[in-house]
Formats: sequence, C-alpha cells, structure tokens
Amino acid sequence: SIVITGATGQLGRHVISCLLRLDVQIPDIVAAGRNEEKLGSLAELDLKTTRIDYDDPASLDDAFEGAGTVLMISGSEVGRRVAQHRNVIDAAVRAGVSRLVYTSVLGADLGKLILAEEHLATEQAIAESGLPYTILRNGWYTENYEPALRYAEDTGLLLANAGDGRVASAAREDYAEAIAAVLAQDGHTWQTYELSGDHAWSFDELAAALTEVLGREVTYRRLTPEQHLAALEEAGVDEATARFLVALDANIEDGALDLITGDLSRLIGRPTTPLVEALRAML
Ligand code: NDP
Repeated sequence: SIVITGATGQLGRHVISCLLRLDVQIPDIVAAGRNEEKLGSLAELDLKTTRIDYDDPASLDDAFEGAGTVLMISGSEVGRRVAQHRNVIDAAVRAGVSRLVYTSVLGADLGKLILAEEHLATEQAIAESGLPYTILRNGWYTENYEPALRYAEDTGLLLANAGDGRVASAAREDYAEAIAAVLAQDGHTWQTYELSGDHAWSFDELAAALTEVLGREVTYRRLTPEQHLAALEEAGVDEATARFLVALDANIEDGALDLITGDLSRLIGRPTTPLVEALRAML
C-alpha cells in the first residue's frame, strides 16, 4: 500500500485525487493525518484513514505497519520539522517500507532560502537511513500569491521587496500530479527531482498577469525590506509572518526560487499551469 502523510492538507488531498485518476485502487491508499475531522471526510470517500502525529512515534508505527511506500509530506510547523521528520523516517525504517518519498524544497542545497535548512537536514537523514528514497524538491505554489491577488484587487498594487527576482512557480495541482506519478510508477528510486514551473516570472510580469485577470491596472511597487515590513504590518499581518515574508522576498531577489529543470513538466507529461491560468482559478 501507499501511505500518504499530510493527507489532510491541501497538497495531500490533491495527491490522493491524482492517484485515483491514475487508477491506483482505493484499498491500496492509506490517508494519514492529524486532524480527526478532515480524516473523517477522507473516510467518507471510502479511503482507509489513520491518525498520526509527527511528534508521536507510536502513531507512526501503527500507520506504517505493512506499508510498501510512504509519502512524507513535509510538516508545517517551521522550526520543529527536523525532529518530526526524523520520527517519520525512523518509523519507516522500523516498518521496513520499500520506499520513502519526501516533498523537500527547490534548490534545498543552494543555501539561498530561509526554509531550506530543515529540508536539507531531512534529506540527509533520509540518505543516512538507507531506505530507498525519492526526493521531490517542490518549488513555490502559485497559490501562495492569492493574498497578493486579493490586495491588488482592492488597491491596484503589488507590494514586494523582491526587486528583479523571479519565481518559477507552478499550481499545487501540478506538483500533486507529479508526486502521484512518482508514487504510481517504478524507476524513481534514488532520484532527486527539482520541481518547478516552466517559466520563471518577474514581479513586473506578476503585476501584468494580475492586471489581465482582475481587469484593473495593477502596478508592482518595488519596496525596500523596511518599507515592505511596515506595509504588511499596516495591513494587519502579524510581525512574525511579516518578517518571514520580507525574508522570503529577499531570498527571491537572490534567486532562491527561479530554478528551472523541466523535471515537473516531464513527470506530468504536459506543460505546467501558466501563471495567468493559476491566478484566474483563484477568483
Ligand atoms: P497544508 O498546511 O495544507 O498541510 C500541511 C499538512 O501537514 C496537513 O496535512 C497537516 O496535518 C500536516 N501536519 C503538520 N504538522 C503535523 C504533525 N505534527 N503531525 C502530522 N501531520 C502534520 O500545506 P500544503 O498541503 O499546502 O503543503 C504541504 C507542505 O508543503 C506543507 O506542510 C509545507 O511543508 C510545504 N509548503 C510548501 C509551499 C510551497 O509553496 N511549495 C507553501 C507552503 C507550505 P493536519 O491538517 O491533519 O493537522
């Protein structure tokens, strides 16, 4: 069977839909997540569900018993993830699974992205575990710019401190389809794929795409990190999140998210979803 951790999250749910479209049979899928209510709605689709917490090794042992492949979707508790992911890896070793697939981050070893450290440490723990693995280094979801779309809808402005940086984003659905393909096929063992969109857009291009989708003129205002921080806080974003977003834009300016290898479109057998199309889907 294929055990999907993070099945209750947005990416995990898409992965399950894609697996079903690839004719993977329902009894071969185990949806593992923490939130009972969301697990309940997955059970309504006749899927086998199991409650796990990355902080609770016993729950992982139960979930992985008899598993063939485990998909470890990276957790969302930034700062706590290395220990949590190690728990998942150790449980997968104890269960003797035949493959561990992990969603890392684009260019995890380039040292350019604030989030990369935890992902790289996880990749290293996987390599040291000896388990056959596939590492999927996911680039940015275009959906991350939904708040920017809402802001632009209200104000006609796109605010960022990313300078001329570019983002090779793709739709969450694109990544899910690639993950499902890797899970459903043989031949991806010991591989590390860099998944990203086919085109790396600049923030001027994002403003033009927003203009097209919203039907109102949207201008990219290039802010300094200090100006952006102030603007985010003024818009009601909490300080920790605002600081995170400002650091992220600086990483983008530094080229942390513009890598294009074509791995994603090769795995899904079609071009990645264009920026305008992904933005339009958010309306
Ligand atoms: P979501 O926030 O929708 O889902 C996160 C998933 O992680 C949920 O299923 C959640 O379970 C699970 N999870 C978190 N902590 C634990 C834990 N301690 N134990 C068990 N499960 C846990 O994120 P997405 O689905 O959109 O993205 C998947 C992952 O990709 C994120 O977790 C994050 O690591 C990363 N990410 C990537 C981005 C990108 O642009 N590439 C952007 C944002 C995140 P539950 O809901 O049941 O609590």
